[in-house]
Amino acid sequence: MKTEVFRVDPGNPDKYALRKAASVIRSGGLVAFPTETVYGLGANALDPKAVRKIFAAKGRPVDNPLIVHVHEPGGAAYLGVVDGRSRKLMDLFWPGPLTLVIAAAPGVPSEVTGGLETVAVRMPDHPVALVLISASGVPVAAPSANRSGRPSPTTAGAVIEDLDGRIEIVLDAGPTDVGVESTVLDVTGDVPVLLRPGGVSIESIRKAVGDVVFSPCGKEAGRSPGTRYRHYAPSIPVVLLDPEGVWKNDPRIGDARLPVAYVGISPAPVPVFAQVRFESVKQYAGGLFSALREMERSGAGVILAELPPEEGVGLAVRDRLRRAAMKPVNGNS
Ligand code: AMP
Ligand code: MG
Repeated sequence: MKTEVFRVDPGNPDKYALRKAASVIRSGGLVAFPTETVYGLGANALDPKAVRKIFAAKGRPVDNPLIVHVHEPGGAAYLGVVDGRSRKLMDLFWPGPLTLVIAAAPGVPSEVTGGLETVAVRMPDHPVALVLISASGVPVAAPSANRSGRPSPTTAGAVIEDLDGRIEIVLDAGPTDVGVESTVLDVTGDVPVLLRPGGVSIESIRKAVGDVVFSPCGKEAGRSPGTRYRHYAPSIPVVLLDPEGVWKNDPRIGDARLPVAYVGISPAPVPVFAQVRFESVKQYAGGLFSALREMERSGAGVILAELPPEEGVGLAVRDRLRRAAMKPVNGNS
């Protein structure tokens, strides 16, 4: 298959490209498109055959459910149960990087839900995504547009790096803004559970709806199948620069055969071969995935990555880095 790339101006999206992309979605094909978080790989969420193509193109484990994207809050009610609290969250955070896990309506394909009784829904805050979904006339299931296990794509170039020849179209609207994926919040129980930290901070969700349960690496992670896997990982190992200094004992850091690349905000603590420095945690989130991809291309043998403070979007950056640094497990990456 030949992958077509269309440049689209987010301020004035090209109608030809969007019409063509929408018709590909409607006829069961795959389109990579920009959102405010990362690039997504979209298919008609109501067409099981089309959804299966997403898993095949990415090499994604089939028990890892997908987020369904809608172009208006009303679209969520066709996919699942929207209660008062969910509506309040939608009013406050949509369009935006908050995904809500709600009880699924009958008819949502099990390919989308991973066989769970819940469905994850969000309305992205990007004009190209919104026009594409509305022109398609169907809800769009879309995980990040990378090969499974790799850093998420924040540019069309990164999508092509991973998926060229495997998908019909890439809509290129330049680099994405937030840079880390959406916050995933399960609102099916009495107390909302944060399944994945992301672009909307846990602090702001707590301000809106009170208590939210979250423990990094805790049992909640098991409820979100995707969080069990090593993910976001470049092809060279990632070592976390932790304040306790455990990294200093990592044999990969002192090894002369492995030149060190560094990503972080503080100055690198050792001489490095290549680096990407950020001025703020927000910038770190925005540039994290492209920095990991750039450092893997640099010729370095290992990446030393600074863990930012555990607040705001820093929680999401820490989560992605922690999983990028996990040891590979067969079949998961
Ligand atoms: P991705 O689309 O690759 O950014 O990943 C979507 C994330 O949402 C993964 O961590 C999934 O496990 C999670 N997710 C999607 N649907 C559900 C669901 N119904 N219940 C729990 N987690 C979900
Ligand atoms: Mg992903």
